[in-house]
Amino acid sequence: SPIPDYMQEVLDDCRNADGGAVADYIPELARADPDRIAIALTTPDGSTYCAGDADVEFSIQSISKPFAYGIALLDSGFDTVLAKIGVEPSGEAFNEISLEESSGRPRNPMINAGAIAAHSFMDGKNADERAERFRERMSMAAGRELSYDESVFTSELETAYRNIAIGYMLRTHNILETDPDDVVRGYIRQCSLSVTTRDLSMMAATLANGGVQPVTGRRLSGDRAVRQVLSVMMTCGMYDAAGDWMTTVGIPAKSGVAGGILGVLPGQVGIAVFSPRLDSHGNSTRGVKLFERLTEDMGLHLMEVP
Ligand code: GLN
Repeated sequence: SPIPDYMQEVLDDCRNADGGAVADYIPELARADPDRIAIALTTPDGSTYCAGDADVEFSIQSISKPFAYGIALLDSGFDTVLAKIGVEPSGEAFNEISLEESSGRPRNPMINAGAIAAHSFMDGKNADERAERFRERMSMAAGRELSYDESVFTSELETAYRNIAIGYMLRTHNILETDPDDVVRGYIRQCSLSVTTRDLSMMAATLANGGVQPVTGRRLSGDRAVRQVLSVMMTCGMYDAAGDWMTTVGIPAKSGVAGGILGVLPGQVGIAVFSPRLDSHGNSTRGVKLFERLTEDMGLHLMEVP
């Protein structure tokens, strides 16, 4: 098939876009090899095409957010979750300490404030139980047993002052109804799940497939929840670069500070890329380039008139 050759070509073309820097506010992430680069595509029938370092593990970080939001919708219901977490793009950085003035609600589930709240709406009576619930569901979506990276988890927890501050603000406004330290701990554990680019591509394809895992055929989510998740990814997934992303790439996507980006073209394809150097918004520099190139070549932009 010509697809693998094409993917290798795209990868080689984007390899030189090496601006940006590896995230270092989480000490363990600073140790990542900045030259890694990978791309993977999964079609609705479950075929995956990879190029580059697609089997190298890294932590999922913020790419966990849309999935945790989806699990929260499943476990606590739309009414509860929507009452506590908004769906408006904030145009702010991912770790902005900001809540809606009137309600104290986080603006959306893709920034840390909303994601910490979403974590608390997954089933489980403490951090470990919620993290385990998350790990199980994500393993089903990836189609293999995933595990947590303990050193990334410990490293982030030791320096999590900002997320802990956000947790306490959420508790003050009764957005969190339990111990904020426990919820933030669970959220940080969720972010430390080890995944490969291939795994993320399979997860993206599960969303592209309306919640049905393409290889096992198992339904992991209702299509109403998938629609909700993709909608917030589309408007909020790339933080303060969301508008840039929407106009140039034009598909719902989510980035993480370890360098992954996951993109979903509903009904058509799941895409994942990985490269650790980040731009000023916290999105993978080469990852953004890879997506721009794919959109351009394959006409993936959702607003493209066929
Ligand atoms: N765990 C990271 C944090 O909360 C996730 C941030 C990200 O990937 N953008 O800061």
